[in-house]
Amino acid sequence: MDKTKKFLLEEKDLPTKWYNIVAELVNKPMPMLHPGTKQPLTIDDLTPLFAKDLAEQELNQTDVWIDIPEEVREKLKIYRPTPLVRAYNLEKALDTPAHIYFKNESVSPVGSHKLNSALAQAYYCKKEGTTNITTETGAGQWGTALSLAAKMFGLELAVYMVKISYEQKPYRRSLMQTWGAQVIPSPSMSTKAGRAIITEHPNYQGSLGTAISEAIELAMSTPNCKYTLGSVLNHVSLHQTVIGLEAEKQMEMAGEYPDVVIGCFGGGSNFSGIAFPFMRHNIKEGKKTRFIAAEPSSCPKLTRGKFQYDFGDEAGYTPLLPMFTLGHNFAPAHIHAGGLRYHGAGTIVSQLMKDNLMEAVDIEQLDSFKAGVLFAQTEGIVPAPESAHAIAAAINEALKCKEEGTTKTILFNLSGHGLVDMAAYDQYLADDLVNYSLSDADIAANLSKISGLGE
Ligand SMILES: *Cc1c(COP(=O)(O)O)cnc(C)c1O
Repeated sequence: MDKTKKFLLEEKDLPTKWYNIVAELVNKPMPMLHPGTKQPLTIDDLTPLFAKDLAEQELNQTDVWIDIPEEVREKLKIYRPTPLVRAYNLEKALDTPAHIYFKNESVSPVGSHKLNSALAQAYYCKKEGTTNITTETGAGQWGTALSLAAKMFGLELAVYMVKISYEQKPYRRSLMQTWGAQVIPSPSMSTKAGRAIITEHPNYQGSLGTAISEAIELAMSTPNCKYTLGSVLNHVSLHQTVIGLEAEKQMEMAGEYPDVVIGCFGGGSNFSGIAFPFMRHNIKEGKKTRFIAAEPSSCPKLTRGKFQYDFGDEAGYTPLLPMFTLGHNFAPAHIHAGGLRYHGAGTIVSQLMKDNLMEAVDIEQLDSFKAGVLFAQTEGIVPAPESAHAIAAAINEALKCKEEGTTKTILFNLSGHGLVDMAAYDQYLADDLVNYSLSDADIAANLSKISGLGE
């Protein structure tokens, strides 16, 4: 029998609208609060920092569908629609009755899903006359994506890159520089936030939270400059829904519907992207698909964190967000999945977690690399260390099917490839990587520092 492996859409099938799940939720996320007044955030609070259209999208709780500007669709077409692939060889290696599919977001020119939002954000900044943008980057994927997007829309970009990644992933830095961005290792002496941390901890290797503080500070102190963020915020999740909207059509081509949808989880954007369009059918039609966020055991905000108001960054510049968090001062272990080293979860996903519309699992670093290598050896693609967490979770579900003798359809998002992360694979193959365990006392101690911020 002729087995179809790849389900491909044409350019004309690229979605024309993003899906705004908030408009269809009975329980809306609690409001983000102004850090000074503790009042719900308004559009005027957001526009000094973000482009107006993005600020509107951030607060939009009424429009289910939001038009994707034609200029953005044109650029998305460079790599979209992306393939949906049936992982026959992985299924065979696991000897599982489960049907495993993955949405291949690694085919973008920058190697991850991040370009889906980078293009939209750069476009809206350009449209309102902005000349400069700033951002932070952890493992470097967001900075890389934004560098290309900024170049495509004619913007100058400064990227604060978490210092440990700057050193561990020099090729991500080279990519950003090739696309014309200025890259600064964070913490740096160029901002007050950076100087304060360096003074206190001279050897600090940086964190996403610190880099965010630095990028925001630069944006606020530079004329005609806006800040952009690659995850966590509602508008970023919105832009990523092109992933699930395409996958929905492609699963239909495959004649199947997913019983389980899985995404790895940093701040929530690729998980939201693959999950929300399918979750719509749970909400509207009572479908029973399970949605699983796969987070690292060393940064377990969804599985072991607390739901409460917290800052999005280390210095406390951002609004207060109602989120599952480990505390904005949480310093995650230096695992190689740098994109998953973030203390909190986006507000939409946090609300979905609270309402049991989704679940979360935690994955140890060594299990993620074991899954990544098996995937590379069966399906040929070396996954990003982040994406390997989703693969590990998919493998666990597939092995459960084998035990139970059930045939389930599992869909996961391959959020990126690992070709710029081979130093991490080198270490894994040389038996040089370890797991990091976090005690309940460690987590409780960190959470006690944010107890005053509001439940
Ligand atoms: C940034 C990144 C992630 C984590 O971020 P989310 O916003 O949670 O998606 C996961 N995978 C890859 C490849 C990334 O670049």
